[in-house]
Amino acid sequence: MQTIIVLATKNTNKVREIQALLKEYAVEIKSLADFGPMPEAVEDGATFEENAYKKALHYAKVLGLPCLADDSGLSVDALDGRPGVYSARYAGEHATDADNCAKLLAEMEGQKNRAAHFTCALSLAVPSGPALSWEAGCHGEILTEKRGESGFGYDPLFFYPEFGKTFAEVPLAQKSSVSHRGKALTEFASEFDKVAVWVRQRMEEIKPAKPDHKEFEHNDWSQERMV
Ligand code: IMP
Repeated sequence: MQTIIVLATKNTNKVREIQALLKEYAVEIKSLADFGPMPEAVEDGATFEENAYKKALHYAKVLGLPCLADDSGLSVDALDGRPGVYSARYAGEHATDADNCAKLLAEMEGQKNRAAHFTCALSLAVPSGPALSWEAGCHGEILTEKRGESGFGYDPLFFYPEFGKTFAEVPLAQKSSVSHRGKALTEFASEFDKVAVWVRQRMEEIKPAKPDHKEFEHNDWSQERMV
């Protein structure tokens, strides 16, 4: 039986990445772009995991389908974990990647401890509420100036010691082999056999109960009707 999972994103790169990881499984991957306009999820959780769950559950309830959401961001040791869950809007509600990087550089001025890590939380929720979750991290250092042109977000400032380069200086495939998102998605995909069974069982539970054939034959009403 084919399982349907909706990704809580309209980002075609994210959709393609997950489709490729799950290509050997009987699963149909859809995204929010396959449906009409709908109310957006409120991401006001205190942790990445909470936000991923809020997002997954919101769209699972709206669509009545299992939904996979991710939430990720950068935590800097010297800044007590900031920007953390505010990574996308660190420099303000409509901040660009360049604005956020500029703010990070300003906050890190003079800081000796440059340690930082990315975190990615994934949550797969069914409309009735239960969810599975995965989380992975990736450790590096914040440079004093940007390096590299690829990637997005804080990639040009995130130096990965094992590569001797920032995430913006390596191809996406190389970044994904060690990144928080790459690791969380790989873990999710490697467990997909069990995940698919879990999803099917949870979705069966919320289907309207069908009359049990035996019970139907033996209750008084069916006996009457059968004579
Ligand atoms: P999202 O949860 O994937 O939307 O990520 C939230 C924010 O975290 C992004 O807007 C980026 O600022 C930052 N971020 C998350 N993952 C990465 C990454 O792999 N590289 C650089 N920045 C990232």
